[in-house]
Amino acid sequence: MGRISKRLWLLVVISFSSAVNAEWVQRTEAIMGTEVAVELWADTGAGGEQAIEAVMVEMRRIDALMSPYKESSELARLNKLAADKPVNVSTELFSLIEKALWYSRISDGAFDITFASAGQLYDYRAGQRPDEKTLQQAAALIDFNGVLLDQKNVTVSFSHPGMRIDLGGIAKGHAVDRGIAILQQQGIQAAVVSAGGDSRMLGDRGDRPWVIGIKHPRAANEQAVKIPLSNTALSTSGDYERFYIEDGVRYHHILDPRSGKSVEAIQSVSILAPLAVDSDALSTTVFVLGIEKGLALVNRLPGIDAIIIDGSGKLHYSKELLMSGGE
Ligand code: ADP
Ligand code: MG
Repeated sequence: MGRISKRLWLLVVISFSSAVNAEWVQRTEAIMGTEVAVELWADTGAGGEQAIEAVMVEMRRIDALMSPYKESSELARLNKLAADKPVNVSTELFSLIEKALWYSRISDGAFDITFASAGQLYDYRAGQRPDEKTLQQAAALIDFNGVLLDQKNVTVSFSHPGMRIDLGGIAKGHAVDRGIAILQQQGIQAAVVSAGGDSRMLGDRGDRPWVIGIKHPRAANEQAVKIPLSNTALSTSGDYERFYIEDGVRYHHILDPRSGKSVEAIQSVSILAPLAVDSDALSTTVFVLGIEKGLALVNRLPGIDAIIIDGSGKLHYSKELLMSGGE
């Protein structure tokens, strides 16, 4: 009797002390041209810090691989050589390009990583865009069918010179998924990893879901909607992230592949999906497709939901959110 209670007592002490040491740990860092944030629940503060560092290391690795701005990146090398010959790439880059092309096919070309053929001519920070003629010539080079993949040799080539790809609409989601995978390997059960507008939640925030806000597209520090979420990815694409306004026209970073010009009519698109790579690609895709076609696509895809804020600030929900009382 006495022995049992002693053991029990010991158990209580152990579980109590681990609960005392366990804590929420968080950090943000500027990577991939945006703010990367990790928040997690860890058994010890030191363990949590170390897990966050592992995620940041992974984000920096992906940035070094896929940044269009870094001359030394695998993506920059591909852009330089692929019109001349098939270029060997890592399986990671190959798979992501493959996924991007899948989104091009199911969206009838609304999502197109070759948008960069024209996209590279814009500098939103400097308020610069190409003249009409230059833009037309560049837009003629946009065509995802010109990205040729060789599965067997893991190579990529471009069908014509001048073509360029940019994974800005999908790479951050991939990076967020990699971050979550690393935390899971380390036994973390509650976390949120985000890179700019792409986030993914693992587990809950303690005894309640994570509450994630969707930014108000026209009021910098306000939120348009707040949603409770667990074990989900959420990505938002907005016309307010990278833009400048000239003569009343908003020039922003989401381009219609047919014209090479900024897509009008929508202020933001948020997508819910199990994986961030999908929510990321789809938020850009639906932004380009517009409300009607965009919601039709989302309603066709199982496990995917959308919240769209239209040009006048009105909210539109996908079928399942409406049924679950999202409004
Ligand atoms: P961010 O998180 O950078 O705001 P989004 O998910 O909103 O990114 O996607 C915008 C980015 O996607 C652009 O900065 C650009 O890199 C890329 N992009 C723009 N237009 C397209 C398009 N039609 N198809 C694929 N990618 C695009
Ligand atoms: Mg996106």
